Amino acid sequence: MWVRETVDRKNRRQKPVPAVPDCSLFTVLLRRLILKIGFHLSISNGFDQTLKHAKSLRCETVQIFLKNPRSWEKKKWKDEDISAFQRLQREMAVFGHLSYLPNLAKIDENERNLHGFVHEVKLCRDLGLDRLVVHLGSRADKTKGITAIARGINYVLERYDIKQFLENSSGQGASIGKDNEEITMVYEKIDRKENIFICIDTAHLFEAGHNIKIKKVWNVFIDDLEERLGKGKIGLFHLNDSRTLSGSHVDRHWHIGKGEIGINFFRFLVNNKRFAHLEGVMETPKMGNMDKENMRTMRSLLSPLMSRSLA
Ligand SMILES: [Zn+2]
Repeated sequence: MWVRETVDRKNRRQKPVPAVPDCSLFTVLLRRLILKIGFHLSISNGFDQTLKHAKSLRCETVQIFLKNPRSWEKKKWKDEDISAFQRLQREMAVFGHLSYLPNLAKIDENERNLHGFVHEVKLCRDLGLDRLVVHLGSRADKTKGITAIARGINYVLERYDIKQFLENSSGQGASIGKDNEEITMVYEKIDRKENIFICIDTAHLFEAGHNIKIKKVWNVFIDDLEERLGKGKIGLFHLNDSRTLSGSHVDRHWHIGKGEIGINFFRFLVNNKRFAHLEGVMETPKMGNMDKENMRTMRSLLSPLMSRSLA
């Protein structure tokens, strides 16, 4: 039986809602039909704690920094880190995120930029993590910046087997990657394109001037990107609302549905079959219980059949 009448004591006129059989295979299949949602979480207390925290938030994916994102200090894993990481990776898809300091757009100006990038790629390799999100970096001279970014990425791809997810930017300052044209200019200079994917940060996109509250603006952006890069190149979403207006070029992530983008966009995105095979990571500010709240909000947006299967 696929549909059953449920009677709500408070509201007897409630419509029938689809019932989901208690069948794990069914649930597994159903899960493939929607974006898998999670958070960027800290690893400062070890990967076992990250896993515990991720499970308590009902994450289906998780993103991590490999090291202190605001320091150039190098890091080395202990054996127990690697085994704990494997436990985490067995449970859910994990994405690494390059720390803030390496600026790929200036690898020719300061060798620390490339060394820092390579160090984090090695940290991924040593863990057995093959997915790394990278910001394209900043440079006033965009032409030189784009050439430098591609050189850095090519350097890594020649030596390491890692998938890189290039993240769009808000266009703040001289940051590169605020639109499809800049993303494409980098992409075209990359040799091993099979390891390159795009990570779309919804807050950055909005702040860069794409008013994605209007469904058509979103669709035009996505269609244009796929036309330039080919289908299957969108590899990840950063699901963030924005505290600032579209076109502000000011990067301020905010809680889902509480910012300038608003809830309707996220409802549309999480239920969009086009991206059902992908993951979406929230990088919303860590404030009190807001991770729980943001997850609750996100799950409430799923169509009734999906949300019941996850209950
Ligand atoms: Zn992001």
